[in-house]
Amino acid sequence: MTLDLPVRVPSFDVTVDGRAVRVPRGAMILEAVDAAQVDLPRLCRPDARAPLGACRTCLVEVEGAGGGGARLVAACHTPAAEGASIHTDGERAQRIRRGVLDLTIGMSRDGAGQGTAARHARAHGLAASSYRPRPRAPRDETNLFFTLDMADCILCGRCVDACQRTQHIGAIGINGRGPTAHVGVAFDAAWEDSICTSCGQCVSQCPTGALMPKRGLPARASGREVETSSVTETETTCPYCGVGCGLSVRVENDRIAWVDGMPDNQSSQGMTCVKGRFGLEFAQSPDRLTHPLIRRGGKGGALERSTWDEALDLVARKFVASLGSFAGIASAKATNEDGYVMQKFVRAVMGTNNIDHCSRLCHAPSVVALQEMVGSGATSNSYADYDIAGTLLVVGSDTAQNHPVIASRLRRAVEDRGAAMIVVNPIRIDLCDVAEIHLQPHPGTDVALFNAMAHVILDEGLWDAAFVEARTEGFEAWRRVVEQVTPEEAERRCGVPADDIRRAARLYARPRPGRDGAARGSCLIWGMGVTQHTNGSDNARALINLALLTGQVGGPGNGISPLRGQNNVQGCSDSGCLPNSLPGYEPYDGPAHAKYEAAWGVDLPRAMGMQSTHMIDAMVEGTLRTMYVVGENPLISDPYLAHTRDAFASLDFLVVQDIFMHETAEMADVVLPAASFAEKYGTFTNSERRVQLVRPFLPAPGEAREDWAITAEIARRVQRILERPVHGFDYAGAGAIFDEMASLMPIIAGLSHGRLEREGGLQWPVPDDGHPGTPTLFEAEFASGRGRFIAVEQGPPAAELPSRRFPYTLITGRSLYHWHTGVITRRVPGLLGQVPVVAVDMHPADAASLGFAEGDAVQLATRRGEIVAELHVDTRMRRGELFVPFVQLQGVAVNFLTNDALDVPSGIPEFKACAVRVERPGTPARAGRGPREQRKGRAPVGPGGLRPGDER
Ligand code: SF4
Ligand code: SF4
Repeated sequence: MTLDLPVRVPSFDVTVDGRAVRVPRGAMILEAVDAAQVDLPRLCRPDARAPLGACRTCLVEVEGAGGGGARLVAACHTPAAEGASIHTDGERAQRIRRGVLDLTIGMSRDGAGQGTAARHARAHGLAASSYRPRPRAPRDETNLFFTLDMADCILCGRCVDACQRTQHIGAIGINGRGPTAHVGVAFDAAWEDSICTSCGQCVSQCPTGALMPKRGLPARASGREVETSSVTETETTCPYCGVGCGLSVRVENDRIAWVDGMPDNQSSQGMTCVKGRFGLEFAQSPDRLTHPLIRRGGKGGALERSTWDEALDLVARKFVASLGSFAGIASAKATNEDGYVMQKFVRAVMGTNNIDHCSRLCHAPSVVALQEMVGSGATSNSYADYDIAGTLLVVGSDTAQNHPVIASRLRRAVEDRGAAMIVVNPIRIDLCDVAEIHLQPHPGTDVALFNAMAHVILDEGLWDAAFVEARTEGFEAWRRVVEQVTPEEAERRCGVPADDIRRAARLYARPRPGRDGAARGSCLIWGMGVTQHTNGSDNARALINLALLTGQVGGPGNGISPLRGQNNVQGCSDSGCLPNSLPGYEPYDGPAHAKYEAAWGVDLPRAMGMQSTHMIDAMVEGTLRTMYVVGENPLISDPYLAHTRDAFASLDFLVVQDIFMHETAEMADVVLPAASFAEKYGTFTNSERRVQLVRPFLPAPGEAREDWAITAEIARRVQRILERPVHGFDYAGAGAIFDEMASLMPIIAGLSHGRLEREGGLQWPVPDDGHPGTPTLFEAEFASGRGRFIAVEQGPPAAELPSRRFPYTLITGRSLYHWHTGVITRRVPGLLGQVPVVAVDMHPADAASLGFAEGDAVQLATRRGEIVAELHVDTRMRRGELFVPFVQLQGVAVNFLTNDALDVPSGIPEFKACAVRVERPGTPARAGRGPREQRKGRAPVGPGGLRPGDER
């Protein structure tokens, strides 16, 4: 019998221990051995990279390749020759491999070895080494997530390769020489003082267990080798950020034992960050909600355990009573199926389009601008385009903190493939280490910068006239605006030197060619530094104008990419959890309306629903009386929390459905326990539009249920009370929900759970069963036909500018070790240990001028509130600017300070700029709360950005 490898031509046959296998030309012998399903050691072989050929544990004998008798060769780096006869089981090869394995496990702490090395040693008849154990160096325990025990290290270098050539971080190397050689971080500092991000890629590659996770694993198993029969392995999708990394989760006795990346996942290519690798423990936290809770004794009463029946009946009755004053917030952490059922319930049963989700707080301006200008609100390209681009323009995205695996791909594009990177960010982010140009505009002045770049591109004839002519409209009107914005004029507004603007414009319009001289494209990648401003939509428009002007969209290695924040924020939008569109972005007031009415068997509302940020005002005004919040915590994620808290407190009835208790749930009248991603089946859609399966690997705790199942049950009970036909929510499972979605949503018409099981994740649009998915949008035309230039001018940079009383600008964002409001990551001891308190980053000169030092407690005050945070002196910051992540730790949350002034087209708040004062803790508040319009930053802005009542 011939065992076929995946077809690649040309190929030929060899035999392995007498079995014929076909291998592609150029394959190494190890590929043939694997094809024959022989378990040969390969201790130093990195999973995803070229062989090192160092450990000699993969020795085999080969006959017939090149003549002569049987030769001993290292299978990992010896090419297979046509007709070769390969023997893994010969006495000589086995004896030498046994000797190497004996030495290897002899270096271990107990002489029996760990993990892969121990398993292969036993397979070669070695229960323990014949060598006497060596003197031991102490274990390095300074990393919070894993240990390094040099006693078990064979210096194969796989960990170093993983860090330097896979993750492109370069935190570790082989320090010392000869007998003192060892793995360590630079200068043999403690891991916590190094640039190590604790991604665990090195641990995943260690074949001996020298690098070993601290938690989760049975004592004698390395990350890659759990040797008990009670272990299950499940492939799923990461629940944290929008990169959508594939994870392989090993579970032993219902506990997570180890998480690995999936090398064949096209989005993550075997990588994970610290949260994906070590951050899934939250699912088994004792803090999980396990039973429904009802507040008894009125608004001042306590939340007490109830039955599902009692809780759901109460919710249904209250929802019926609130018809006309009801809204729902869906969860971007839940699955597409959960989101679809949620918006269907709100529209078809509650009769309103008042449904929204956290996209409102992150990329709503990107969606507004993209839909206006190219007709589709999603990223146009794939992460694979970053790999082959000539220029990477990274704007307002601290990618290493927010999308770590994409940051690794970007660093690889620069370091291995010669791409040029331009970073636009007021903060000197980590990617600046590899960037060619770093532009630091004042917060809120991006329009001036991008218009000036367009000016240069026009002025120097670097634009793509043919593309503009053939595929766009609105060019001349737009051109008249940007012709006014010279680099020198922009420098006055945004603070970026005119010459740097010119250099960046040239590099974007004329991307760096490949090392072979071939032309390449430019990728435009942006994050919330662009969008979370009162001019967020204009910022996004100005960026997209650049792509249209240069034709850098719709081709290989180019494109426009807003990096989505939460794991399924793309899918939550796709599924219809938006107040202005039905699933698949079909307008609720267009022809799709009739399609959904027919499918769901009801009349659907035609009035546009409320954006989540407007729901806050509606609560205060009394027009919104009941809220159903799924998997979100607005009492930490929304701006101006004192006001948000007042709004939620004014509700008649609040239902929160989530996996943990949190600030919003504590105010609820009913709390419903939901299953987490670890306990359910469904799909997430990542930032490159890839729909990927989520599979359960743990039982749900207590009585927790899947989100869609809870919502569907509420829907049925509401229908019964309303004496309507009870229908439309009897799903057999998530697969049936997805089938209904595919039958209605053209963008996923060709997808099903079965197809995703067979083929892995696919990028929408997938219009039919045979369609392979769409890595690149707009190859021939835009979704709107022609791309549309929109002229935008730099307005006031922020609703609130620094003044004499509030002299600093506060910027907020995320941090690597926490997720969103921290509800989940606070339940992961390693992540919490890494960042236990909220810190404020400040330039050393500012700290010195205020008399503060590293670690001091400082009070930050804005017109809306005060917090006390720990000072972190940081040269990444510019003078006059501060950064605080928006996670809540120990009761401190920066959104007590932020401004709820909105970008009008998108409804996003201005998280990225507000005026703040720094003082000693306990300093009494000096800023009274002014009239509401002033607090909200919506009063007319005067010269210099001042508002009535402000003082310098
Ligand atoms: S955990 Fe990641 S960053 Fe740290 S040394 Fe290992 S591979 Fe490098
Ligand atoms: S990069 Fe994002 S998706 Fe990937 S492992 Fe980290 S948090 Fe998860």
